Amino acid sequence: MSRPRPPQPTAIPDRYAQRFRELKQEFQQLEYFCKGTLLKRMMKCGKAQCACASDATKRHGPYFELTYKANGKTVNVKLSPEAAPLYKAAAQQYRKLKTLLNRLDKLSKTILRYQAKQAETKHQK
Ligand SMILES: [Zn+2]
Repeated sequence: MSRPRPPQPTAIPDRYAQRFRELKQEFQQLEYFCKGTLLKRMMKCGKAQCACASDATKRHGPYFELTYKANGKTVNVKLSPEAAPLYKAAAQQYRKLKTLLNRLDKLSKTILRYQAKQAETKHQK
């Protein structure tokens, strides 16, 4: 925020309210989202004669998994190669959602502090 501070204190909540509206609009642009991280794995098949047993570059795959925490436990969901990009995009949307939520939370707290101060000042008069 490098914008010059308005001289009158009443202009501050307007600016915050404006920013709040802008952030709310960003919510509207969210696509389907999903919590988690997409993992891409190369696997050994376990057969002793297979090339993958001794050569890491000959491992099978890639195999895709979505990993996330639920109730403190890590959950892994296997995904087909076709599904993987969908979930990857959805995981990005989820991170966007979280960032947006944090910004709104921070901004809301600033506004609430200001409103509380105003209410307290009114009360004292
Ligand atoms: Zn193998």
